Amino acid sequence: MPAPYPWLSQSWTRLAGMRERLPHALLLAGPRGVGKLEMAKVWSKSLLCEQPDQNGEACGVCEACHWFEAGTHPDFMHMTLQEKETREGDIKLATEISVEQARKAVDFVQLSTYRAGRRVVLIEPAEALNTASANALLKVLEEPPINTVFILVSHQFRQLLPTILSRCHKLEVGLPEKAEIQAWLKEKGLDEEALAWVSGAPLAALAVQEEGDLEIREELLAALSKAENLDSVALAESWNRRVAARTWHQVSYKWLLDLLACSLGGKVGFNPDYEAALKKLARQAKTGNLLDFIRRESENGRWVDHPLNRQMVMETWLIEYSRIFEGAGK
Ligand SMILES: [Zn+2]
Repeated sequence: MPAPYPWLSQSWTRLAGMRERLPHALLLAGPRGVGKLEMAKVWSKSLLCEQPDQNGEACGVCEACHWFEAGTHPDFMHMTLQEKETREGDIKLATEISVEQARKAVDFVQLSTYRAGRRVVLIEPAEALNTASANALLKVLEEPPINTVFILVSHQFRQLLPTILSRCHKLEVGLPEKAEIQAWLKEKGLDEEALAWVSGAPLAALAVQEEGDLEIREELLAALSKAENLDSVALAESWNRRVAARTWHQVSYKWLLDLLACSLGGKVGFNPDYEAALKKLARQAKTGNLLDFIRRESENGRWVDHPLNRQMVMETWLIEYSRIFEGAGK
């Protein structure tokens, strides 16, 4: 049975081996962007399929498979972060899985199954369970009704309550090795620089490429590489119109971290393609100023979410960035 992605073949084989003795609750744990959710869905589909092949692979043609594909399988529940309307009328993703959602899942597993077969509850990201929603689930996680499987997907499983963790069978899915992913990268038109930028998570690399973030990154880094004579007013005005807040934050923060790594004699982590520029800047930077700036940034990172002052935040950032190099050199 093929894994959903080439680098998942080992994890997939282990999952397939669990079909005979299903755990009550399975935790797929690992960094974001390695395909855990996709693997959880493919596995769920195969568990619900009414005529899986001898390897346990979903047939893709039975009624259950059709329902699953359409997102309407009555014995499958996908519990995730819900969209909510803010007071300003914007749609935002909730940051927690609510106790109401957890109670719905508890009710759901206590009904008899629609097809008199298995029932699957997929919870992701599981670290979004708060204390109330986690507590609401404890009892059914420990002793779920017959034929019920909980699949928890977590990007930060250490944040899960110990009571939840202890009830789950954990399968860790790590970052792929280079050799496992070369062909896939090539097929998707991605290079190793894109992969380094997202700390080695292939699906994250694909997402930033599809969102056009890689071009934006190039543009921002070209400007930041020349720390002298930055026109902070003009740049902030232009970037504010075209650069998403999230992208700005990622690019600027990772750049500072790489700069710090270089000035401490370490390795460039996120932007190896800009190593020469970073090393040059690091020689000109005052490490104390840089450290202060990074500390403030990690505390203030969320400001940039407000569109009203985003331009101001970017402008201030650029001014402070130039100051790291002030008085150094000639
Ligand atoms: Zn099927």
